[in-house]
Amino acid sequence: LQQRPYNFSAGPAALPAEVLETAAAEMLDWHGSGMSVMEMSHRGKEFISIYEQAESDLRELLAVPKDFHILFMQGGGLAENAIVPLNLSRGGKVDFVVTGAWSQKSAGEAKRYADVHIAASNEASGFTALPEPSNWQLRRDAAYVHLCSNETIHGVEFHEIPDLKALGSDAPLVIDFSSQQLSRPLDWSRVGLAFGGAQKNIGPAGLTLVFVRNNLLGHALQACPSAFNYQTVAQAQSMFNTPPTYGIYMAGLVFQWLKRFSYRGRNALAAIEQRNIDKAELLYSTLDGSGMFINRVAHNARSRMNVPFFLRDERLNDAFLADARERRLLQLKGHKSVGGMRASIYNAMPLEGVQALVDLMRDFEARHG
Ligand code: PMP
Repeated sequence: LQQRPYNFSAGPAALPAEVLETAAAEMLDWHGSGMSVMEMSHRGKEFISIYEQAESDLRELLAVPKDFHILFMQGGGLAENAIVPLNLSRGGKVDFVVTGAWSQKSAGEAKRYADVHIAASNEASGFTALPEPSNWQLRRDAAYVHLCSNETIHGVEFHEIPDLKALGSDAPLVIDFSSQQLSRPLDWSRVGLAFGGAQKNIGPAGLTLVFVRNNLLGHALQACPSAFNYQTVAQAQSMFNTPPTYGIYMAGLVFQWLKRFSYRGRNALAAIEQRNIDKAELLYSTLDGSGMFINRVAHNARSRMNVPFFLRDERLNDAFLADARERRLLQLKGHKSVGGMRASIYNAMPLEGVQALVDLMRDFEARHG
């Protein structure tokens, strides 16, 4: 296969070429079944085997404890902004930590179902820092606390999941980890529910993953659609309705790829985490060493996955993007709400891709600086 361009899309995002090749080879006839995975009943033995393998690989990779269900749902992150309060709020109080566009959106949607309180916000910083947990105004009787562990647009990441117990709260923590999941291990002891769309680190859009602790099920509001009732979905092993079967299959191929992945003497998730650290360090150190490019996020909050950056002279934006395309570096334009550039460097991005971007930045600076 010819070397593909490096794709910095924030999502739907690049997938490992090997995974796409396997999917292509299996497209017309999956494992001698005579069917494409898209053509199989979700209740047939072929698809059940794909589903069970994917579930157990994901559980193993992320070390998901036994008392957590893994739900394969539809609707994406934005639907979860409603589905979570429908299932967990009991119509009562919920607290939000606002660290960027996505947690802000989540809080706005939850207002339709619950009494929402903003326990902390870093909006005053232009979403370039994390609010210090010891200053969060948590309510004792909140049904849950919501945060976004990686803000895809603002490039702000929690490198440690806060310990709500240590902050005096017994509420379960809900995290939107759409753009963080599977990029690093997660401390499940601090989390009650984690959700994310698949279209960054896992597979195609249309599949949404929800990890929910057993004891949080069974409190959905009467108005909650059955197909979005976590307990109903959990009891049916994600087959209450037709799950996104092809997305689950693709995710399963990505999990297999990750299980085989090794890097600098590490394997699987530890290996991908190390490569993600190395990629982020290369990119941020280049930005910090440059007089032309800048990233404004506080060092302890810089995302390993999404790196927004700006040219000090914004008139050069188009020239930079044109040069990037010429070097086959794709989808580097920043989100329209913040402008500039954004490099999303998810699991499938090799170190060489970030090196190619850094080389471009250095050359560009030499030519225009
Ligand atoms: N949360 C985060 C952190 C996201 O990055 C996104 C999508 N970029 C969403 C929520 C919304 O997800 P979806 O488009 O799947 O509804």
